[in-house]
Amino acid sequence: MEFGYTEEQEKLRQGIHDFFKNELPADYGEAPVRAGEEMEQFTQDMQSKAVKHGYPSAGWPKKYGGLGFTSLEQGVVSEEMAYWGFAWPGGMGYNLVGPVILAVGTEEQKERFVPPIARGEVICFEAYTEPNAGSDEANVQLKAVKDGDAYVLNGQKTFISGQRKPDWLFTLVRTAESIPKHRGISLFMVPGNSPGITYRPLPTMSGSRQNEIFFDNVRVPKANLIGEENRGFYAAMATFEFERAAIGLDARRGMRRMADFCRTEKRNGNALIKDPKAREMLARQAMHTQIGWLVGWFGAWRRTQRQKLGPQSYDLSMFLRKDWQPHSANLLMNLFDMYGQLEGNSEHVKFDGNVGRRWEASRIIHPAGTPEILKNVIANRGLGLPRVPRKFNAMINESLESE
Ligand SMILES: Cc1cc2nc3c(=O)[nH]c(=O)nc-3n(C[C@H](O)[C@H](O)[C@H](O)COP(=O)(O)OP(=O)(O)OC[C@H]3O[C@@H](n4cnc5c(N)ncnc54)[C@H](O)[C@@H]3O)c2cc1C
Repeated sequence: MEFGYTEEQEKLRQGIHDFFKNELPADYGEAPVRAGEEMEQFTQDMQSKAVKHGYPSAGWPKKYGGLGFTSLEQGVVSEEMAYWGFAWPGGMGYNLVGPVILAVGTEEQKERFVPPIARGEVICFEAYTEPNAGSDEANVQLKAVKDGDAYVLNGQKTFISGQRKPDWLFTLVRTAESIPKHRGISLFMVPGNSPGITYRPLPTMSGSRQNEIFFDNVRVPKANLIGEENRGFYAAMATFEFERAAIGLDARRGMRRMADFCRTEKRNGNALIKDPKAREMLARQAMHTQIGWLVGWFGAWRRTQRQKLGPQSYDLSMFLRKDWQPHSANLLMNLFDMYGQLEGNSEHVKFDGNVGRRWEASRIIHPAGTPEILKNVIANRGLGLPRVPRKFNAMINESLESE
């Protein structure tokens, strides 16, 4: 079967392609970049320019600041962004918070929260993980107690991504001591500057910044409860449906540059592309790029059918990406041998001098679920295999604690 864009989609794609081509420096996206103030400002400026065209929220209804397209056209935007290696600084809002509020929020909440996200005016953090609630999301302990027309929050989140202080924390909170545990959790939009919130940065080796966030008697209006009380776990699962739906196209441009490099680089007097190691690497990269592309587009189409078919119960694209990412970086490192370990400013450096940085960044496999958890979801919901028995889960937790 041959896939293609409609005329309208092709027009959109060409527009975004030209936008990035004209606005980005030629070598942008060659390698993962370390965040810094200058880079933050640059990506922020790019986002402001893109907002004028409506690109970041193209798939949202016009009423809430979108262009009125579907997930397919949103996929066209994601595909071009992945090609150029660019991510919106307001990505959490565009990829998660906006879509979830549009799916489960009240009309008042959609009107209040979504348009400022579309305009790129606010930064949202997805604040789910806690010291004892990562893979076991149902174990959330950040506690909310009702007090008049507000809830009062006490507890902690950890490993929450974000470079600067957020306007909103999209967060899971325990609102009831329930059995089963997941029936006592609710989802809130908490103003990021609320009195009683403290942020502590956790810088990581990939250069991204995570945060510990502490809540000390933080008051949140009842109107900021998203969806029904004690049904937040289900809304969080909807979040994962959007978050895990990564269009798997980011390797395409890198793949082409790598092939060009192998054609021109000499190894033992021959073009590197004649080396079996290089050929194997290129072949495997090409195969995974193609599979990621097909699976990514299937997910984008499936989201257009959400009304008819209901939420998608699992998605392969995030798993495939996380499963392949470390192998891909290892292959690249092996190809360059000791040269891969040189710092970027060495005169002997090969390719773009960022093989080591790519290898470090390839270790980011935790956000939105580890590969093991994604495999469990596919086994259970995709293949209909029985759930992991509670006893086995307890054994895993015990062994982790004793390490
Ligand atoms: C760079 C980075 C960015 C992040 N960004 C965010 C963010 O923005 N927002 C947010 O809320 N969180 C974020 N996280 C946290 C991330 O979601 C969690 O790290 C992840 O869900 C795993 O939870 P955990 O760290 O508690 O590990 P655990 O759940 O303790 O798991 C530890 C290990 O045990 C394995 N394991 C656990 N249970 C099972 C099981 N049942 N079967 C098989 N294996 C199992 C896991 O796969 C993992 O290898 C981020 C983490 C990182 C590293």
